[in-house]
Amino acid sequence: MSDTCSRCNGSGQISCPGCGGRGTKTLNEGYNKSRVVSCAGCDGSGRTSCGSCGGSGNK
Ligand SMILES: [Zn+2]
Ligand SMILES: [Zn+2]
Repeated sequence: MSDTCSRCNGSGQISCPGCGGRGTKTLNEGYNKSRVVSCAGCDGSGRTSCGSCGGSGNK
């Protein structure tokens, strides 16, 4: 019997904390200027490996 990771519910992946799961980030570049870029932390997918279980889904 394996212990399912409670942080990712066994999926091994969690929403990226860097972009909140959106996969993009908005950079402010000054007054009334902003740019949307891919999040580097998740490569634009919005999801990243769970740090609690290392992406395995189990503890
Ligand atoms: Zn991200
Ligand atoms: Zn996990």
